[in-house]
Amino acid sequence: MDVVHSTPAPSVLIVEDDSRLAAMLAELLTDEGYAVEVALDGQRGLHLGLTYAYDVLILDRGLPALEGLDLLARLRHNGVTCPVLVLSALGNPADRVEGLDAGAEDYLAKPFDIDELLARLRALRRRHLEKARIVRIGDRRLNLDSREVCSSSPGDPVRLSDRESSLLAYLATRPSRVVSRAELRSAVFVDAESDVAVDTYVHYLRRKLGPEVITTVRGRGYRLGRA
Ligand code: CA
Repeated sequence: MDVVHSTPAPSVLIVEDDSRLAAMLAELLTDEGYAVEVALDGQRGLHLGLTYAYDVLILDRGLPALEGLDLLARLRHNGVTCPVLVLSALGNPADRVEGLDAGAEDYLAKPFDIDELLARLRALRRRHLEKARIVRIGDRRLNLDSREVCSSSPGDPVRLSDRESSLLAYLATRPSRVVSRAELRSAVFVDAESDVAVDTYVHYLRRKLGPEVITTVRGRGYRLGRA
């Protein structure tokens, strides 16, 4: 039987309070094949950024509710590693340095050239895909190629099975979000007969990495880390 794997559209979150600019960017990026989500203020952007795993994030700085670089710092603090391009009217060298120091991968000043923005987004995604083989699990790191979890303290890495690694990576790339058993099953255990497969592998992961690695949220599913 041939199985065709279609590549999902890359997803982008635009955090921009200028609604006309946000709509223009959304239309442009949709035409380029991106799945686009827009947040018009910083709080909403933070919520979406912590809840969903985007391939790239475009971030304004001057935002209501939560300033752009504070938002970025909070995402990074919570283990969100998706590449971020800051798009800001603050464009002098000191502003750029501030943005890059806050954890942005790239910085483009407004007004900007559309083709340059698109090229930079492509470059960001390429670089990120090469790096994305390492996933952060709290203060530990999961290498998706070797399927080994290393901690910052000395000690042998813990080797995971293919499915343990996939399950852990799925939760780790959605920090702060409770993921239902049904979603985990369809993402990681496509051939499983029931959600029990998910519970079994959560049990295996806890045995290998400690009970605090995954939290059970009663009636809702699982989340990375302790409660
Ligand atoms: Ca703004």
